[in-house]
Amino acid sequence: MSAQAKHRRPKTRRATRAAALATVGGAALALPLIGATGAQAADSGTTTYTVKSGDTLAKIAQSQGVDGGWKQLYQDNKSVIGANASLITPGTELTVGGASGTSTTATQASDTSGSGYVKPVEGSIGTQYHSSGAMWSSGYHTGTDFIVSTGTSVKAVSNGTVVSAGDGGAYGNQIVIKNADGYYSQYAHLSSVGVSAGQTVTAGQQIGLSGATGNVTGPHLHFEIRTTASYGSDVDPVAYLRSHGVTL
Ligand SMILES: [Zn+2]
Repeated sequence: MSAQAKHRRPKTRRATRAAALATVGGAALALPLIGATGAQAADSGTTTYTVKSGDTLAKIAQSQGVDGGWKQLYQDNKSVIGANASLITPGTELTVGGASGTSTTATQASDTSGSGYVKPVEGSIGTQYHSSGAMWSSGYHTGTDFIVSTGTSVKAVSNGTVVSAGDGGAYGNQIVIKNADGYYSQYAHLSSVGVSAGQTVTAGQQIGLSGATGNVTGPHLHFEIRTTASYGSDVDPVAYLRSHGVTL
């Protein structure tokens, strides 16, 4: 099966894994949390902060009262900031983990009956979640690949808000969306990105076109479900979609 799509993540990302395992409250979902620790914390009430000109991570961490300071802020947002913590672009949306003890909004959808969720793309599953192999920095595949040719319509799986959209390094052009239930969906290797950070989307809405950008051996959609916006907090995407009534 040499046609199987593969991609790799830089080894340096591995270190972010443990730090990114904080999770939002899972409402009625009973998903397997796969990870080094599997830690499950209560909803810490994350908020979004838009980077302004002149901001530094340290400054933002202090003004937003981030537990763990700028390092934690960087870990939580590495996927949108990139490899250089000192380079943050005005307009970037950062996820700010709630300081312990705060009780900001918890907008978990209680309806998990299956309505309102769709497949991200019409295509068959190639490389499955948790396939093991040396080509993945975490030691296993953190998403599910749908084998589709470049230019296939990619849809938001849930109502949600775009957390980031643009260059995702090894993931190529990618979109991360905060879904209605508080989980995050990631759509990678896109040829075209049709949404921008902060935008609200509805389930089934086209958000971009599939492609082969980033580290790939062929066109496919790499699709992840995460408990945070960051790499390393992945759960099984197929189990997640099925728990929402999507047939795969
Ligand atoms: Zn993949």
